[in-house]
Amino acid sequence: MTAESPEITIARLKREIVAACHRMYAQHFIVATDGNVSVRIAEDELMITRSGICKGEMTEADVITVDFEGRVLEGDGRPSSETFMHIAAYEERPDIAAIVHAHPPTAVAFTIAGVSLAQCVIPEVVLTMGTVPTVPYTTPTTKDVPLAVRAVIRHADALMLERHGAVCVGLSPKDAFFKLEKLEHAAHVTWLAQQLGQVQLLPPDEVRRLLALRSKFDLAGRNPLANDCIAELFDS
Ligand SMILES: [Zn+2]
Repeated sequence: MTAESPEITIARLKREIVAACHRMYAQHFIVATDGNVSVRIAEDELMITRSGICKGEMTEADVITVDFEGRVLEGDGRPSSETFMHIAAYEERPDIAAIVHAHPPTAVAFTIAGVSLAQCVIPEVVLTMGTVPTVPYTTPTTKDVPLAVRAVIRHADALMLERHGAVCVGLSPKDAFFKLEKLEHAAHVTWLAQQLGQVQLLPPDEVRRLLALRSKFDLAGRNPLANDCIAELFDS
């Protein structure tokens, strides 16, 4: 198989960003001009969605290339106001190549109600993403957001920003989007279970068994439970 040329790679990555934006908007994970998506294209360069664009109407022309200082290298308009949050995540995670940020309503409602999503409830989520930590509230678009994200993204592929939204990272925009979709689905299922009665957590032994399967399936990414915070979760 011949290697993809750099031009073809850039064109493909732009299409992948656009596809993730359209999915996020269609699934109501964002409204109006909310949300942003990026891919890393070099050690210190990324392509990111343009500021102020509706992601349901996004095209490849709305993707902007910036360096890790935030300088625009290619594209028209301003890059997303959350560009430095993406840069912080890439700096902390050399293993990732894409980031999605959205406002999935059920998961955001959990953070507003002060109910943690860092519980072991759904086996598939425990196995893949582990738990979803919540970063304490910071004012959106300020430099406090990247600072807060930096500390948590080291340990997790998916996190919640209190009262704001989700940040999910992965190997491609689709990979990161799937984590966002799983996160919102887990929040929705948990909310439904709460209407029916008390949410029953998976027992610690079963959580350990699920985590042991990670190496068998050679799962990429970082799972906060793999940092042996199980005892902490079940003690609290
Ligand atoms: Zn946001």
